[in-house]
Amino acid sequence: MREPKSVVNLRAMKKASIISIGNEILSGQTVDTNASYLSEKLLSIGIAVVSSYTIADEIDSIVRSLSLAGSDAELVLVTGGLGPTDDDLTRQAFAKYLGTELQLDNELLQKIQIFFTSRNLQMPEKTKIQAYIPAGAKALANNLGTAPGIMAEVKDKLLIALPGVPSEMKQMFEESVLPELQRFAGGQAVVIRKLKCFGTGESNIAELLGSLMQRGRNPLINCTALCGIITLTITATAKDKDKAQQMAEKDQKSLRNRLGELVYGAGEQTLAEVVGQKLAQQKKTIAVAESCTGGYLAKLLTDIPGASRYFTHGWITYSNNAKTSELGVPADLIEKHGSVSEPVANAMAQGARKRAGTDFAIAITGIAGPAGATEQKPVGLVYISVDSDNSCQTKRFIFPHDRDSIRLQAAQTALNMLRLKLHIC
Ligand code: ATP
Repeated sequence: MREPKSVVNLRAMKKASIISIGNEILSGQTVDTNASYLSEKLLSIGIAVVSSYTIADEIDSIVRSLSLAGSDAELVLVTGGLGPTDDDLTRQAFAKYLGTELQLDNELLQKIQIFFTSRNLQMPEKTKIQAYIPAGAKALANNLGTAPGIMAEVKDKLLIALPGVPSEMKQMFEESVLPELQRFAGGQAVVIRKLKCFGTGESNIAELLGSLMQRGRNPLINCTALCGIITLTITATAKDKDKAQQMAEKDQKSLRNRLGELVYGAGEQTLAEVVGQKLAQQKKTIAVAESCTGGYLAKLLTDIPGASRYFTHGWITYSNNAKTSELGVPADLIEKHGSVSEPVANAMAQGARKRAGTDFAIAITGIAGPAGATEQKPVGLVYISVDSDNSCQTKRFIFPHDRDSIRLQAAQTALNMLRLKLHIC
């Protein structure tokens, strides 16, 4: 049976493998941001990353990883280990893998010397090693530091070594490597679109999308979840950019149709951003009264530049006394129902809106844990109230996980309740 054309397209993509060198990555001291940056960049030009390795500062391990990476990819990108110290062994490993010697490149040496003299510094003797590259390989200029990159072709594979320092790596990748790789990718165009959802779980999304999420489909749709925010990534691959764009946009529309108001935005938009835009457009104002979130909601709202157009007041009323004195929540209401209750959340929101004189007020009260739970009121129980001139809507939630995550979910859910009230999707 012949395969559908779209699947053939994906399989025709060039494949890459990424190797991150460094004991500090293996020990967890450094988070490997280089690999995620490179993966995203490669995919955007139609190169699929099929494997990724983290390797110790040890020549033979690096050589083995080059063989392994080259066994399932045409492009191998290495970061780290190009510095001047004894534990920087990538250039030696490249030479060993290529079966050549390191050769002094006088032009490189001169550039490194200028790097030091232009800063009134003496070049340390150890730095000289950075002017050596494997015979037959090409040096890649480093305009931010002293470690040049290395590019070598062996049989039909392309091997590239970049510095570990993220700023140097990115600059070298964008200036010297990307143009080369665009040719290497061989005319496949990839367009990526993201949709942001809130208000349900990944499995419900998968059910709603059905066959749209089938593996091997083109466009490919992936789903990731973080603290209640679900990101759907649409990756369309085609012979040219226009076609890939059309395919991605068509899917984006289908997804929006199927998911309705679960979709709150696109790209990297946050809930606070879309809510803020709508408040500004409608010339509405908002105040917040927070207990267990301790100002998290106010922070999310004021993270957005220009928030002063709509955000006026924030109260953190952590104690019962503060809820009464600052927001006018009746003490006997707290006595009767407890501070984590629907009537208190209502009263907090109404009190905040009245005192701030805003169009909307959001109140949050809950138990973020780990202590403070009772049989009736478990950790994660949160009441969120949104008050406006025509209604006061309060909802009860039980959020899972730890204190940080409960607080973040509560703040995001509050924004989502306001979003739905403002009719944004
Ligand atoms: P240098 O000239 O600074 O020695 P290098 O190419 O040898 O550069 P490393 O010594 O491996 O790079 O790392 C330099 C710095 O870059 C370290 O602070 C390290 O934590 C950071 N770094 C290295 N690899 C990564 C990575 N994969 N992701 C994020 N940071 C990294």
